[in-house]
Amino acid sequence: METTTQSGATTLPPRITKTLIDRLTAMVTAGTAGEKREPFEMIEVYTGGVVGELPQSSPEDVVAAVAQARAAQREWASWSVDRRVAVFQRWHELLLTEIETIADLIQIGCGKARRMAIEEACDPAMVASHYIKTAKRVLKPVQRGGYMPVISASTEQHRPKGVVAVIAPWNFPFAIAMSDSTPALIAGNGVVLKPDNKTALCTLFGVELLYQAGLPRGLMQVVCGGGPDVGPTLIESSDYVMFTGSTATGRTIGELAGRNLIGCSLELGGKNPMLVLDDANLDDVIPGAVFAVFGNTGQACMHIERIYVHDKVYDEFVRRFVAAAEELGATAGASYGTDPEIGSLVSVDHMEKVASHVEDARVKGATVLTGGKARPDLGPAFYEPTILTGVTPEMTHATMETFGPVVTVYRFSDENDAVEQANATTYGLNASVWSRDLAHAKRIADRIEAGNVNVNDGFVVSYSSKMTPSGGIKQSGVGSRHGDSGLLKYTDTVHIGVQKRQVMAARAAMPWAKQLRTTLLTLRMMRKLGIR
Ligand code: NAD
Repeated sequence: METTTQSGATTLPPRITKTLIDRLTAMVTAGTAGEKREPFEMIEVYTGGVVGELPQSSPEDVVAAVAQARAAQREWASWSVDRRVAVFQRWHELLLTEIETIADLIQIGCGKARRMAIEEACDPAMVASHYIKTAKRVLKPVQRGGYMPVISASTEQHRPKGVVAVIAPWNFPFAIAMSDSTPALIAGNGVVLKPDNKTALCTLFGVELLYQAGLPRGLMQVVCGGGPDVGPTLIESSDYVMFTGSTATGRTIGELAGRNLIGCSLELGGKNPMLVLDDANLDDVIPGAVFAVFGNTGQACMHIERIYVHDKVYDEFVRRFVAAAEELGATAGASYGTDPEIGSLVSVDHMEKVASHVEDARVKGATVLTGGKARPDLGPAFYEPTILTGVTPEMTHATMETFGPVVTVYRFSDENDAVEQANATTYGLNASVWSRDLAHAKRIADRIEAGNVNVNDGFVVSYSSKMTPSGGIKQSGVGSRHGDSGLLKYTDTVHIGVQKRQVMAARAAMPWAKQLRTTLLTLRMMRKLGIR
């Protein structure tokens, strides 16, 4: 398909046909009720060419979508965990079979490099695989002893919440939308997904594959629109909200969830530090830092924006890091092939925001060691890998999330100062510590205020370990994903207590003084024997 627009012709891969785009956009719940909205023009980031029109949901459409998901959820919740999980076993295989199409659709909306799109496409398969393996154990009722052995029993049950709203950002649109919906569905819920307009196509394809895998019709709905337009209605109508996005929006989502008295999980922004200790092996650190800073063109919540390097290795680090960033930048390109190692930013607007942070730093006295320029020759939203030094607190980039291929390098000579600097942020999402001495690096890691700390890695080692919960602390989030808690958060814990013999009734006739003596004696005995 070739579409000519004012901005230029698209360069879509042959797999991405108009028929596919029309089929996917028809899945959005829109135009069923309420005032009809103007569709959103979807753009191929590499060219600025128009790819198609995305229907926009009205608040009434959102209510209808939640109602449909709720109707389908009742039966889904009655299925055994094994039967639900079987859908995800089939989906896992479909994801791997369709990986190239998924990557195409991710790249169209994000403009990221092919390898990154493929890595992103693998994430939901990894999450599904983890919960396929663990869901039955985690969701099964747990028999607890009652308050009094023998005569009472107590069971902990995990019931699906009902309908979960999943609100996803544009930076890993497929991974986040699908990987967060997966445990919500496996736990027995319906899902109403709100992707970002710019990157909705890949998520719609993921949902189509779920239906192909046998998900009951209607259980997963997709609504599209501006966040403030559809978000409040979605949250008011749902039973839980899983949000990933900026800290500013997260605050609004938390307020809406609080007003509605529903639970929420908020995965938010970061200003993530890396510490390079004096004994770090620079042969590992340099490629590690290049990926941690510039991977996904710097648009990863866990990516590194501040690097603290020990005096002893600072000069060599800076020389080699600058050379590596320039080498990476030389591969940049707009391509659905694997040659470019770095792609575009998501939009011209975002590129201008990134450029403004660099400009602000430059004007206030920072040094741009490399980069610092847009690359309109490659595409409308390309920006060079950029390394700064001399960044001081009054510069925007010092404390605010830039969310682009921009990093500042700082020198330190005292590790305690470096830890203090690393923690001097309102955020607490991710951090990275490099040293040949693992025990020492782990001791430093223990002192870093972040929800994820990676030793001798930027962020992949913690994000890819699906068995351990991962989330932000401080202003980087509330709750976490992955691990047992990443499934249980989508359930209500219900306590079923059973009184096998009514002892209270039997004691009603007993004089109060005797009742009290018996109660105190029982409490002492149970403590002594360690029964309760
Ligand atoms: P954003 O907060 O602008 O938008 C995220 C989503 O929320 C979008 O779908 C948007 O349409 C929607 N939204 C906006 N206002 C809303 C409202 N009032 N009600 C309901 N929905 C609303 O974030 P973004 O710019 O799309 O994403 C980048 C941010 O996300 C960065 O700060 C990044 O660090 C963060 N992020 C965090 C994680 C994590 O796991 N911690 C992962 C990826 C991205």
